Parts: sequence; structure tokens; C-alpha cells
Amino acid sequence: MRIGIIGAGQLGQMLGFAARDLGVECRFLDPSISPPARVCGDVLQRPFDDTAALSELAADCGVITYEFENIPIKALQQIESKVAVYPPVDALRQAQDRLDEKRLFEQLGIPLPLYQAINTRDDLSAAVDVLGLPMVIKTRRLGYDGKGQFVVRATADVDAAWRQLGTQPLIAEQWVPFDYEVSSIGVRNVDGEIRIYALSHNVHEDGILRISRSPVDAPPLVEKATDYVQRLLLHLDYVGVLALELFVKDDQLLANEFAPRVHNSGHWTIEGAATSQFENHLRAVMNLPLGATANHGHAGMINLIGEIPDRVRALGESHLHDYGKVPRPGRKLGHVTVLSDTAAGRDARVEQIYKSVTQSTRGDGTTA
Ligand code: AMP
Repeated sequence: MRIGIIGAGQLGQMLGFAARDLGVECRFLDPSISPPARVCGDVLQRPFDDTAALSELAADCGVITYEFENIPIKALQQIESKVAVYPPVDALRQAQDRLDEKRLFEQLGIPLPLYQAINTRDDLSAAVDVLGLPMVIKTRRLGYDGKGQFVVRATADVDAAWRQLGTQPLIAEQWVPFDYEVSSIGVRNVDGEIRIYALSHNVHEDGILRISRSPVDAPPLVEKATDYVQRLLLHLDYVGVLALELFVKDDQLLANEFAPRVHNSGHWTIEGAATSQFENHLRAVMNLPLGATANHGHAGMINLIGEIPDRVRALGESHLHDYGKVPRPGRKLGHVTVLSDTAAGRDARVEQIYKSVTQSTRGDGTTA
């Protein structure tokens, strides 16, 4: 079977490597020049909503999947009648709109931060009364890695938030003074088989993921997160990998968002789990039995953002992934995974590598 993948970035590349190991051919659609996944298969260099290109991909492939979320829903609906598209287009539609996403969490009994839909400047003032300060304003659509967000810390910030974001539909969210952030990654195949990976503890800076560690030694949280992911997978009649990002506050989990795709916080699964999220995503969409998701010891993943320093390339006993991208401040260029028999050993190694990564330049390109 040939798999069509919309998007040929680093997630497409890692899907492509997993496909190669399964003996499966991939074809990508991506308008970028020289995207990372070019090393794994033919790339149709056309816009994501190019009707002719999508039809060509649909005719040529047994199943279509995607590696990023900002794909026009209409484009996918156009090919759905010709070829299976997984994850389901309706799951993507709900993930694309933060308001729909939050309503879905509520419908499924998944706890989440208090929020308000914002359409007018008056809504914003009213939200301050309901949610208190600080609160976070987010665009309903097209936000990622903390982009399209404004933290309102004082009433005086409300005007600035409205000026910056007020031209589009918004939501306001209660600020969560979380202890830490986690993600739970689940996968479901066409027949309905479900597997869930160990929880990842994720550290973000400026809205961008910097470090993931797995497993998390907190059985009650693992149990809750697993339950929430299962509710999503079942309700959405989901096929593929899904990542649910959550805030941890004491023994409570609050859902932040879900991604209907393979996820950066699951990169450690390539070396750190029996079957990677990428292989299991492909297995799911091809309706093959899913692979085991158990951890190989304690895994840590450090994102390489803005540059890949030579000293990181020279590191031993770690797994470097260079996506082959042109360096640019703030750009995810690669990652490093480390494994250890103990959590303490893993944490020491992660800290050492993170220091090395941020030593001369910070991920955003500024000097530390
Ligand atoms: P998002 O784009 O919604 O995933 O937000 C990016 C990051 O901003 C999250 O991973 C959190 O670190 C932070 N963040 C987002 N929403 C909130 C919130 N309501 N309270 C506190 N931190 C938040």
C-alpha cells in the first residue's frame, strides 16, 4: 500500500522513516522547497488545497493522512469520498477551533480551565470579571506554539490585547498556575484496537516545547489521562495517533488541547518505546495490529531550536535527529533522545544536554 501524507515537515519525515521500515511507500504534498520529508519519498510541491494535486494523491494512495493541523477542511472533504482519510476529518475540524475543542472536552466530561468565547471588546471586559486575572486570550483558529496568544495580567492590558488580536474570533481562558504540563498519546486502528503510551512530562518556554520526559511516576494522573484519551478516541471514532495536552495542578488534570496527529512530545517513543508513535500511526491508518507501547526504561527528549551546536552533534550515548532544515531563530531543527535505567540518570543527562544546547545561544537565537 502507498500512503499519502499531507505535509512533509519533520513529522512527515519521521512517519516516512517508520514507513520505510514497514516496507511501505509514502507520497507527500507540501508547497515548501526542500522539506524534511523529501528524503523519504516523492513530494508533490503544490499548495495544501490544490484540487488537482489532492486528486492525484487520492488516486495514487490507499490511504491519506496528515502531519499538521492547518489544512483547509474543504480540501480533505474533497478527497474523502475517493480514499480513506485518517485521522477523521471531523476530529481535525474540532481541533482547529479552540471553542469547539473546549465544548468537546465538556461534552466528554474531561475537566478543563474556565473559558469564555470572545467576539467583542465588551466580551473581553466581561471575561475579566468571570475569569479573573491573569487570563490568556487565544485566537480560536490557527494558533500554535503559543502564537496568537496574549496574557492579560492587568485591566490596563485589555485594550492592547484587543488591538493585537481583536480582528478574529477569540477565547479567553483562566490562567492555570499549573505544577507542570503533561501529554498523553493514544492510538486507535480502524478495527478499534487502542494503545496508550506512558505519560510525558513536558517543559515549554515561550510556548514552544523544550523538553519531554517519560514515564511520569504518578499513577492516579496516568489513570485519569488514559481515561480522557480513551473517551476522545472512542467518541471521535478516531483512527491514528492523538495527543492530549494537560495541565497538572495537585492531583487534578485540566485539558489544554488535543492534536489529531503524531506529536512532538512523543518523539522519545522512537528509541524509548517498544513501538514508536510514528510506526503505530501508520499501523493504525493501514489497519494493522498495533505495536506495544511500553517504555524502554526512562526516556528524555530535548528539542534543538534555532541551531544545532557542534558540541551536541559530538555527544555520545544519545540519539540525535537532524531534520535537515535551514537554521532560523525559533525553528525546530532537530531533537536529541536519551535513555536511562533510572529516572535520576535520565534527568541528569537531560539537564546536561539542555545546558549544552542553551550554552551559547538560546533557542530563540538571542545570546544567553
Ligand atoms: P497552547 O498553544 O494553548 O498549547 O499554549 C502554549 C503554552 O502556553 C502551554 O503549553 C502553556 O505552557 C501555556 N498556556 C496556555 N494556556 C495556558 C493557561 N490557560 N494557563 C497557563 N498557561 C497556559
